[in-house]
Amino acid sequence: MDRQQEFILRSIEERDIRFIRLWFTDILGSLKSVSIAPAELEGAFAEGIGFDGSAIEGLARVHEADMLAKPDPSTFQVLPWRGESHGTARMFCDILTPGSEPAMMDPRNVLKRSLNKAAEHGLSFYTHPEIEFYLFKEPNSDGVEPEPVDQAGYFDHVPRGTTHDFRRAAIGVLESMGISVEFSHHEAGPGQNEIDLRYADALTMADNVMTFRTVVKEVALEQGLFASFMPKPLNEHPGSGMHTHVSLFEGDQNAFHEAGAEYQLSKIGRQFIAGLLTHAAEITAVTNQWVNSYKRIWGGAEAPAYVCWGHNNRSALIRVPMYKPGKGQSTRIEYRGLDSACNPYLAYALMLSAGMRGIEQGLELPEGADDNVWSLTEAERRAMGITRLPENLDRAISIMEDSEFVAETLGEGVFDFFLRNKRAEWAEYRSQVTPFELKRYLPLL
Ligand code: GLU
Ligand code: MG
Ligand code: MG
Repeated sequence: MDRQQEFILRSIEERDIRFIRLWFTDILGSLKSVSIAPAELEGAFAEGIGFDGSAIEGLARVHEADMLAKPDPSTFQVLPWRGESHGTARMFCDILTPGSEPAMMDPRNVLKRSLNKAAEHGLSFYTHPEIEFYLFKEPNSDGVEPEPVDQAGYFDHVPRGTTHDFRRAAIGVLESMGISVEFSHHEAGPGQNEIDLRYADALTMADNVMTFRTVVKEVALEQGLFASFMPKPLNEHPGSGMHTHVSLFEGDQNAFHEAGAEYQLSKIGRQFIAGLLTHAAEITAVTNQWVNSYKRIWGGAEAPAYVCWGHNNRSALIRVPMYKPGKGQSTRIEYRGLDSACNPYLAYALMLSAGMRGIEQGLELPEGADDNVWSLTEAERRAMGITRLPENLDRAISIMEDSEFVAETLGEGVFDFFLRNKRAEWAEYRSQVTPFELKRYLPLL
């Protein structure tokens, strides 16, 4: 046992922790949890805890069902909402095969592979997500629009507002779990909120995003509310994006920064954007993985639909935020495609690998778009070389299916499982006669 592991065992005793939840994530980004007693922890650190992988979305085929979950001691945190005495702590796990090899189907391992490749070039990947979500009065799954907790809008300061109390409580829990929050505010939709996490290395951040979703749901329930990360829950209001700011560091130097360059953006930064633009359509099935995701990206309201970049252009897929003088290390790129219901491990792996391809292949960055791309005509967009993101999940799957790049980054197993699962979702959706059709056609036809 190393010192970190010993320290954890000691804290468990001192803090009266009785349950240790081992967390991992399935391919679609659902959090999985198995609780062990403190006495089991030493064995878990040494060998992992066995479980039936075939029961988890995409993790293993039935004939190779036994898998091991091995806790990563650096992720040890006490869950504040489980109370002080007889407490509960959690650690994220790496999934291993029975032969103790990293499992190809583990999303955390997919991200680690991409990070290791970048590390071969001396680069590490940092991310900073702006996570949007809605607060509703109660859960509601009977197909009727849910009722938001308020009627406020962007940056509104609502006296005695439910969302102030909610954000204060949620941020308190996040901070106590070592997740720093940078900004928080009411978003544009009624009951819609945004919380932005302080940047961290991409693996820590993907873990943080998983924790964030759980914390937000727990705190909402505690306050008698229901939180949802559904990409577009309301017809008339904006969807919930997870715009993510990214940067590459070489040692302690921001590799995207070059003093005096346009937007202070280095050649590596420009190539990274070019790589992201080249592969944007191919990775969209992952960054926007649900039928409903496409209602957001084709719903306007500052969600991107066209593949282009711009400086401070909020209609573009990629934005290079305004440079703050004296803040050399803060040069970064904002990718606005992701929604709040994606699998952060897979999405970050693909974004990093797409950007790295741009660097490896020395791709040229096309002209930036200064205009609101939504207001241009189709012909104007075509003349500027601006293509579309996929219009729906079906289209996104077809584009991903042809992508040798996505297959290589995710690994064949994840790639095949994901496509199969998403094809089934599309088939089920397509077979539905929707309220829209009934309302529109029944009186008419
Ligand atoms: N809600 C918008 C989206 O879905 C983003 C609004 C904003 O710019 O923060 O992407
Ligand atoms: Mg926002
Ligand atoms: Mg943003």
